[in-house]
Amino acid sequence: MATFVIIGAGLAGAKAAETLRGEGFDGDIVLLGTEPERPYERPPLSKGVLLGKAERESAFVHPAGWYAENRVDFRPGVTVTAIDPAGHAVTADGGAVAYDKLLLATGAAPRRLDLPGADLDGVHYLRTMQESERLRAAFATGARVVIIGAGWIGLETAAAARLADCPVTVVEPEPGALHRTLGPELGAVFGDLHRSHGVEFRFGETVTSLYVPPQAPPRPGEPVAPKIAGVVTSSGDQVRGEVIVVGIGVIPNDALAQAAGLEVSNGVVTDAALRTSDPDIFAAGDVASSFNPLLGHRVRVDHWSNALNGGVAAAKAMLGQDVSYDRVPYFFSDQYDLGMECCGLPSPGAYDQVVYRGDVRAREFIAFWLSGGRLVAGMNVNVWDVAGDIQALIRSGRELNPARLANPGIPLTDV
Ligand SMILES: Cc1cc2nc3c(=O)[nH]c(=O)nc-3n(C[C@H](O)[C@H](O)[C@H](O)COP(=O)(O)OP(=O)(O)OC[C@H]3O[C@@H](n4cnc5c(N)ncnc54)[C@H](O)[C@@H]3O)c2cc1C
Repeated sequence: MATFVIIGAGLAGAKAAETLRGEGFDGDIVLLGTEPERPYERPPLSKGVLLGKAERESAFVHPAGWYAENRVDFRPGVTVTAIDPAGHAVTADGGAVAYDKLLLATGAAPRRLDLPGADLDGVHYLRTMQESERLRAAFATGARVVIIGAGWIGLETAAAARLADCPVTVVEPEPGALHRTLGPELGAVFGDLHRSHGVEFRFGETVTSLYVPPQAPPRPGEPVAPKIAGVVTSSGDQVRGEVIVVGIGVIPNDALAQAAGLEVSNGVVTDAALRTSDPDIFAAGDVASSFNPLLGHRVRVDHWSNALNGGVAAAKAMLGQDVSYDRVPYFFSDQYDLGMECCGLPSPGAYDQVVYRGDVRAREFIAFWLSGGRLVAGMNVNVWDVAGDIQALIRSGRELNPARLANPGIPLTDV
C-alpha cells in the first residue's frame, strides 16, 4: 500500500489530507507538524482570536477526532529535519518515515528583526496561536504599542490594539500603508482608516534600534530583567512602547527543500500541477512558488485561499489527476468596520490606472486596477458577492471601458 507523507500541518497540509481521503486514496497518510496544535487557520489570529471575540476552537480546520476517524496519522510536535529524495524518506524527530509521494506544506515564517534586544519579552511576532494569545494578553494591559511594518499583519494588529484601547504607533519605511501590496491610491484609504481610529503613522522611517532603558543594578541573587520601552527610528526620535509587534513580512520555509536539492527560488519551485523538480514531491501553500498559467509566470501567494485551494490541487496531482492550478490570487481582510476582498495582484508597476465604483469616502466601493485597459486586480470594500465577477473580468483578459466599470448602474457581468 502506498504511503503519502505531508510535511507541515497547516491549512494546506490539512486540506491535502482531507482531499486524499475524499478522492478515495486508501493508502497511509502521515501528517507531520512542528506545532503542538492540530491544523488551524491563521486569519482569526489577527482578528477574532486577537480581539477576544472568537474561541481558539473556531480556528481549527477539523474536529479533534477527524484525523483518527479518517486514518490520517497526524503527528504533532514533530519537525522534519531532512528529505532524501533518492531514498524516498524523510528524517523527523521521531525517526525516518518512508514515502511514495511527498507534499511540502511547510508554510512561511515571520521575517525576524535583526537588532539588539529583539529577543526581549515585549517584542512580538504573530504567526501562531500561542503568539496571538500572548499578544491579546499584552493588549489587555493597555500598554503603548509600536508596530513595525504597515502591511496586512501590522494593520490588522493595529486595529486590534486600538479596539483594546492601546495607543498605537506604526513605523513603516515606505511612503504609505500597504504601499508595495496595493500601491499609493488604496494604501491611502487604509492609512486614513487607521488615522480615523487614532493610529499614528511614521512613514518613511525605519527602526534603527530598540530602546531598553538603563536599569538599576539588580540586588544580589536577583536576575537582570531588561525591559523594552520603545524604539528609535531613522529620524532619531524615540517612540515609546512597551509592546513591540514586528510585521515585516514572511520568509518561505524552503530550507528543507533546498538542502534536498530541489529547485528553490523565494519558495519551492513547482509547475502548474504543484510538482517540484522531483516528480514525487509536491508543494502547496505559502511555501510554493508555482507557475500560474493564467498569469503566465511563477508566483508565491501567501494567503489563506491559496493554502486552501493549493492543498486540494496538490493532493489531486499526487493521485495522478490532471491538475492545472490557475486561480486568481485572492485575499481578504477585516479592520475595524471595514471588510474587504482583493482579487489579483495590484502592486505598484503592475497597473497604470485605478477606477472606483461606489463611495470611497464612505468606504463602500470597488476599486479596479487596470493596465492598458485590462483588469489586473479588483478590491471590494464593504461591498459583497462580487469577487466572482471580478475574477471573471480578470480571467477574460478583455480591454474594459473604465466609464462602464465605474458606473454602479451597470452590472459587472455586463461591463
Ligand atoms: C496572523 C495571520 C493572519 C492572516 N490573515 C489572513 C487573512 O486575513 N487573509 C488571508 O488571505 N490570509 C491571511 N493570512 C495568511 C494565511 O494564514 C497563510 O497564507 C496560510 O496560513 C498558509 O498556510 P500553509 O498551510 O501554507 O502554511 P502555515 O499555515 O504556515 O503552516 C505550515 C505548518 O508547517 C509547519 N512546519 C514548517 N516546517 C516544518 C518542518 N520542517 N516539519 C514539520 N512541520 C513544519 C509549521 O510549523 C506550520 O505549522 C494570515 C496569516 C497570519 C499569520
